[in-house]
Amino acid sequence: MIDLKKFEFWFVVGSQDLYGEETLKQVAEHGRIMAQEFANDPILPAKIVLKPVAISPAAIRILFEEAAACPSCAGIITWMHTFSPSKMWIQGLAANKKPILHLHTQFNRDIPWQTIDMDFMNLNQSAHGDREHGYIYARMRLPRKVIAGFWQDSQVRRRMAVWMRAACARADGIISPVVRLGDNMREVAVTEGDKVEAQIKFGWQVNTWGVGDLVALYNEVSDAAAETLVTQYEADYEFAPELKSGNGRKAVLEQAKIEIALKKLLDSEGAGAFTTTFQDLHGLPQLPGLAAQRLMEQGYGFGAEGDWKQSMLLHASKVMAQGLPGGVSFMEDYTYNMENGNEAALGAHMLEVCPSIAAKKPRVEVHPLGIGGKAPPARLVFDAAPGPAVLATLIDLGDRFRMILNEVEAIKIEHAMPKLPVARALWKPAPNLYDAAESWILAGGTHHSVYASALTTEYFRDWAEMMEVECVLINNDTKPVQFLDELRQNEAYWSRRS
Ligand code: MN
Repeated sequence: MIDLKKFEFWFVVGSQDLYGEETLKQVAEHGRIMAQEFANDPILPAKIVLKPVAISPAAIRILFEEAAACPSCAGIITWMHTFSPSKMWIQGLAANKKPILHLHTQFNRDIPWQTIDMDFMNLNQSAHGDREHGYIYARMRLPRKVIAGFWQDSQVRRRMAVWMRAACARADGIISPVVRLGDNMREVAVTEGDKVEAQIKFGWQVNTWGVGDLVALYNEVSDAAAETLVTQYEADYEFAPELKSGNGRKAVLEQAKIEIALKKLLDSEGAGAFTTTFQDLHGLPQLPGLAAQRLMEQGYGFGAEGDWKQSMLLHASKVMAQGLPGGVSFMEDYTYNMENGNEAALGAHMLEVCPSIAAKKPRVEVHPLGIGGKAPPARLVFDAAPGPAVLATLIDLGDRFRMILNEVEAIKIEHAMPKLPVARALWKPAPNLYDAAESWILAGGTHHSVYASALTTEYFRDWAEMMEVECVLINNDTKPVQFLDELRQNEAYWSRRS
């Protein structure tokens, strides 16, 4: 459902008219060659559109105004081949509405030692042209990403791709509302938040539907349609033997009906994400379990207990991770292993963990749920694949949002846990369980999060930068005492901005 090719990025090469026609022709030709190579590199996930060389204040202002009015333009990549006086850029940047990547590179890799002369120096002066360009962002306090490196190097392309994916997630969030089914779980603080501010800040449209709207669609789903979908489940997953017939199979069919109804509701609203709450299921036979897992797998964001912030963040993460190896899921820190030397966190949820993070084929099981007072729901049970991952969350501090990231290493689960029939992940957080937990808690981090094995912290940091949202990182360099100081220093910076 997520197509990054619908987005485009404008590549703008800056110069000025001082150098004469011949030099500007060269600049344009180099830009054309670079744009062509970018377009042909499969690591860059969206279209690259080359714009005319920017040489005057009026042309630059019109360019940014056009970008602002272009819904498919997800971001702008700037690079100063020559010197491009930055006062020329002020009106354009003041009108800008798109994320900016300032690519600091030069067309030639090596200095041509034998032939270099002043003509060459005049043509290839990114080293100081990009400094003039960088100054104006700093002077105007504008968010942007700066990547320095040779434009043909894979590391530069990889970082460009990360930023482009984050920008696609930003653009997608504006056109993908979140459907909240019911409100937040009663009395819970951290899943609350300012939905008006979320729309101003992120573009996210967050609105509520009564669960009755879903139930009406659920009641319309035919047995035949549910049977067809269960046949698909049988192809995709393992089945517990008792689910082949009788009440077991009936429970799976109910989740298939819920999946069909939910998808219909979401698609009728053009939604990218949804929330449920076990406290508002009137007319539904079960809490959406398998259904929520399947929809996450298809790219929809999900948040339990009305957690719309994590739901939209999950959808944004799905956009960023589109086509990449690994997965992205809704997650919750559940319980710890505090064994000395083998400390780890066990993450899961009542039901709703996305199978995209599974180590192997998930298994459909049906078990009673000790909460919500509904029929035993079908769910997918699996262990998450080992390897590096990121936990990300978004909280509302009252005057602003804060993103919190923790680098973790998922480890193989050596124990079967036969009495725990939910999908789960076991991880060692960086720098270690206790320092990570102390830091996360000092920052006000949620019990809910997005778990991403497909992404690194760079994606989330790029996304937060373009959203102008505070972002704090817990990794191997983190010490809780210094981390608390960082949080307090951030108060000064972000309260000035809000
Ligand atoms: Mn929860």
